[in-house]
Amino acid sequence: MTTIFTKIISGEIKSDVVYQDEQVTAFRDINPQAPVHILIVPNKEIPTVNDIEEEDEKLIGRLFTVAKKIAQKEGIAEDGYRILVNCNKHGGQEIFHLHMHLFGGRRLGPMIMRR
Ligand code: 5GP
Repeated sequence: MTTIFTKIISGEIKSDVVYQDEQVTAFRDINPQAPVHILIVPNKEIPTVNDIEEEDEKLIGRLFTVAKKIAQKEGIAEDGYRILVNCNKHGGQEIFHLHMHLFGGRRLGPMIMRR
């Protein structure tokens, strides 16, 4: 179940990490779809939303408080932003390590479309 995100979290693979603590790591998406596009990832390997357990509820909540802090730091909090989580094939999930996308820095329109 280990993906490239685990190697980014451990530092084995270099990435533009904007936040890290013992539970969560956030880094800039390699293929940004907006001026700000950051992935917020639990350090624990949870493949998809379908795999979240009740014991993970605090950790999942932490993804949001980290997102809020990053949005403030990136200067997009006031104008606003979008948080998105893809799940499995129909959701367009490509990396099977749970992650939250944080998009901002421009008007995002009704939906983010893949380019
Ligand atoms: P998903 O489609 O699974 O929700 O999103 C996966 C995201 O991870 C994509 O937006 C993709 O650009 C990003 N991504 C894939 N590989 C890497 C990588 O090695 N480094 C970084 N920073 N982002 C990656």
